[in-house]
Amino acid sequence: MYHSVDHYRDDPHLVTVSPRRFEGQLAWLRARGLHGVGMAELLRARDAGEERGLVGLTFDDGYADFATRAVPALVRFGFSATVFVVSGRIGSYNAWDDGPRKPLMTVDQIRTVAGAGMEVASHGRHHVPLTETGGCELREELEESRASLEDVLDRPVTGFAYPYGVATGREIEAVRAAGYDYACDIRPAEPGRHALPRTYVGDRDRRLRLRVKLARHELRRRSRV
Ligand SMILES: [Zn+2]
Repeated sequence: MYHSVDHYRDDPHLVTVSPRRFEGQLAWLRARGLHGVGMAELLRARDAGEERGLVGLTFDDGYADFATRAVPALVRFGFSATVFVVSGRIGSYNAWDDGPRKPLMTVDQIRTVAGAGMEVASHGRHHVPLTETGGCELREELEESRASLEDVLDRPVTGFAYPYGVATGREIEAVRAAGYDYACDIRPAEPGRHALPRTYVGDRDRRLRLRVKLARHELRRRSRV
């Protein structure tokens, strides 16, 4: 689970990985015979029993640096990824947090990354914690974000990622009812197709820490099957 790939001076929420570190992390995956893919592709492969060697790469929030920094590196490695876009903030900035302002992808950038083979999925409309929404707002966050991204892309949007990684049974059921095929969580109490666990990767993650994180993720994954 990534957010932003860029040079930075101030990163209080630890959402940014420097371009150089990011390349190193992709090289580390490749050196271990692992191949980065988007979540829809990973799940298709898993359904077919062919997920061996694949690692799902995700980028939350849809920062403009996904288009300008992450995608060129991913393409160089022959990898792909899923980016979870906040549909009500396209072309704007991360107004939901108090960290440094970071521009978000424009419509053109979203279309360009999709054209480069990246999966574009939904991160809701306004980046609100879904557990704090009423029934009507919850439905709108899920259904309108999906519809507006499908308008932009002219193709189905099948994935969702919970803002702040917060979801209880109610939100998980709502995501399923809204027609999403899968949803990414962070540390779900009960993992499932609509509450997929992810592992945070940050700028301090070099070889040793990546090895520990990969092993821990494998353990978590296996313990639920
Ligand atoms: Zn987010």
